Amino acid sequence: MLETTPSIIYTTLYETCNTELDQLAYQLCRILNQKGHSSIFMPRDGYGHISILVDEPTASFSQVYAAKYAGLGTVGYNHTLLTPQYGPRVRFVSVLTSLKIPGTRLVKEQLCTHCLMCAKCCPTHAFEIDKSSKIGSMNKIKCAEYHAQLREAYRFPCGVCIKVCPVGKDRELYESNNMSKYLSYDKENQEYQSWKHCQRYGSKPLENAVNHHPTSRVACPVRFGVRDHALLADSDAQFWIDWLVKDGKIKEEQFKPSDIYTNQFNPYYEK
Ligand code: SF4
Ligand code: SF4
Repeated sequence: MLETTPSIIYTTLYETCNTELDQLAYQLCRILNQKGHSSIFMPRDGYGHISILVDEPTASFSQVYAAKYAGLGTVGYNHTLLTPQYGPRVRFVSVLTSLKIPGTRLVKEQLCTHCLMCAKCCPTHAFEIDKSSKIGSMNKIKCAEYHAQLREAYRFPCGVCIKVCPVGKDRELYESNNMSKYLSYDKENQEYQSWKHCQRYGSKPLENAVNHHPTSRVACPVRFGVRDHALLADSDAQFWIDWLVKDGKIKEEQFKPSDIYTNQFNPYYEK
């Protein structure tokens, strides 16, 4: 399902997984509290709208570092927790409790191979490619802005940087060890066609972002936020209108996209 990202199929997996995690953590806290051990849980995500992360992309709690110090894995170049079994293809929820439990040893061996596939394939180029740093310098705003678009298109979240990571035994289970497929694409290839098939239905097209293969810098020359020849579309303007309406800065239907942009002076514009 993750292989199809960005797609409604992955959205469904993501939401199902998150709901299950929150419910399990809630139930666990309830049992622990009933037994006299004060406990609370931190839900997986802690923000009301993706636009808030665009303004301030910092979480109130790090599930990644909680999982690292629980001895579940190591932090990779892509800022996720890599686990031996599933690489970064995991979701976490945390329970904080007064119950005394024997600790688990930290994973000492760094699981990230520093292959930089995550950085090379990120559709927004959010990571700097720097072989000397263990954890990549990441532009979280680029990532959050892209996610705002994915949300509008019913294709949230992205997850390409976890999809392409070679770490994890799940690669063998799914016979998915061919990493080179993420760096080039062939439209005649059956796998590419089935990926497109899964994306075509149930969600909106991503006009502004990834026009070709989602995981290739080589095959994806269209950078986030800029279309071919810098042409604009109604959806670009509508995104900002919706945002300002939500923030109470303008009234609903005060502006329509054609009020605030034109392609008229772009030489590539065809009426
Ligand atoms: S989630 Fe997507 S956009 Fe964000 S850093 Fe990962 S690959 Fe890049
Ligand atoms: S894709 Fe490579 S560099 Fe990125 S987190 Fe995984 S192992 Fe590390």
